[in-house]
Amino acid sequence: MSAILAPAPEVLAAEARAAYATLQKAGLKLDMTRGKPSAEQLDLAEGMLALPGNRDHFAEDGQDVRNYGGLQGLPEARRLFGAMLGVPADQVVVAENSSLAIMHDCIVLALLKGVAGGAAPWSQGDAAFICPVPGYDRHFALCEGFGIRMIPVPMRDDGPDMDAVEAAAADPAVKGMWCVPTYSNPTGATYSEAVARRLASMRTGAADFRLFWDNAYAVHHLTDSQPAPLDILSMCAAAGHAERAFIFASTSKITLAGAGLAFFGGSPANVRWYLEQAGRRTVGPDKLNQLRHTRFLRDLDGLKRHMAGHRRLLAPKFDATIAALEQRLGGLGVARWLRPEGGYFITVEMLEGSARRVVELARGLGIALTPAGATWPQGRDPNDNILRLAPSFPTLADVRAAAEGIALCMLLAALEARGAA
Ligand code: PMP
Repeated sequence: MSAILAPAPEVLAAEARAAYATLQKAGLKLDMTRGKPSAEQLDLAEGMLALPGNRDHFAEDGQDVRNYGGLQGLPEARRLFGAMLGVPADQVVVAENSSLAIMHDCIVLALLKGVAGGAAPWSQGDAAFICPVPGYDRHFALCEGFGIRMIPVPMRDDGPDMDAVEAAAADPAVKGMWCVPTYSNPTGATYSEAVARRLASMRTGAADFRLFWDNAYAVHHLTDSQPAPLDILSMCAAAGHAERAFIFASTSKITLAGAGLAFFGGSPANVRWYLEQAGRRTVGPDKLNQLRHTRFLRDLDGLKRHMAGHRRLLAPKFDATIAALEQRLGGLGVARWLRPEGGYFITVEMLEGSARRVVELARGLGIALTPAGATWPQGRDPNDNILRLAPSFPTLADVRAAAEGIALCMLLAALEARGAA
C-alpha cells in the first residue's frame, strides 16, 4: 500500500491526536469483538419457541419426534436445509446444535479411523491443512488442538489464492483445507465459481484429501445480490473426486446461536461414513428442535423472509462501520477493506506492523477489539496488519461510535508507522 497522506501528515496527525484526546474523555465502553447475533436478531425467532405446541409432535413421516431414533434427521428438515445449501435431501444429516462440533468429530474420526475410502487413519503420518488467511480462529484452534500442521495461503476477493493452494495440495501430508465459501469469516469474500472448480478438480498428493466446506453464512445476505450456494458436490463428482467435499452449516445465525440445528452434507459414501459413527455416538438427535425449525421457517421462501429480517437489523450496522472507515481513511492509501455483501465481519488490512497498535489505541478509548493476529494460525499474524471488526452485537449507536473511534485509531497508527505522529 502506498501512502498518499493528504492533507499534510503533520496537520492530519495534530487533528487526529486532538480528536483522540477528546474521545478519551468521553469514557466509552464498547465491544466490537464478538460475531454474535444481537438480542433483536434472536427475538426474530421467538415465535419458534412455542412450537410445535398442541401435542402436535409428529413429523411428516409419522414419527413421534419426542422419542429416540431418526439419526439422519427429519425428512422435512433435510429437505429445507438441503435446499438452503444446494445439497440433495438424502445427502444431508441434521445433527445437533453446532456445526463446529461436527467438524471436530470429522477431524477426530479421520485421525483415528481414516475417511471413507482412505487407506489409513490420518494420524498415521504427518497431517496438514491448507488455511486461507485471514481465516476463522476456531478452525485453526481445531487443527492446533490435534497437532495438524497449518499451511497459510492468501485469501483474495474471490477466494483463496489458487496457485498457492494447488502448490500446497501436492504434498501427500496435506489432508484437508478450510473453506468458508460464502461471505467468508472474516473478509466477507465469496468464492468465485472458477475458484470452486479449481478446488474440486485440483490434483492432490493425498488421495483421501477433504475440503472442509463450512457454509456458515450461505443465506446471510446484506444486499440484493444473493448468490446461490456453489454446488461443490457436483463439481467434485464431475471432476472424478466425488468424496472430496464435506459440507457444514448451522442455523446458529438464522434462528438461535447455540440452540439451532447443525448440518453435515456430502456424497452418499461420506454420509454413510459419518452416520456409522454418529450411530455409535448418539441414540438420535433432538428432533423436537428440528420440527420446531421446520414448522417455524416452513420452506425456502420462509427462510429467506426470516433472513431479510436479519438483514434489516444488520445492514445499517455494516453501513455505519464502512462509512466511518471511508470518512477517516478513504483515499489515504493506508487501509483496505472489502464491503461485505453478507456474513458477520469486516476485515481491515492496514500498514504492516500496525494492527496491535490499533488494538492498544482502541483500548485506550474504551473500545474492545478482537486481538490482532486472531485471524492467523496460532494467533500470529506475521505482518501484524489485519483486524477483524464484528458489528452485529452492539446497538447501532454503539457500532457507529465504536467504528468512528476505531477508524481514528487506524489513522493514528498509520501516521505513527509513517513517522508522522
Ligand atoms: N463456522 C464459521 C465460519 C463461523 O463463523 C461460526 C460462528 N462464528 C461457526 C462455524 C460456528 O458455528 P456453530 O454455531 O454451528 O458451531
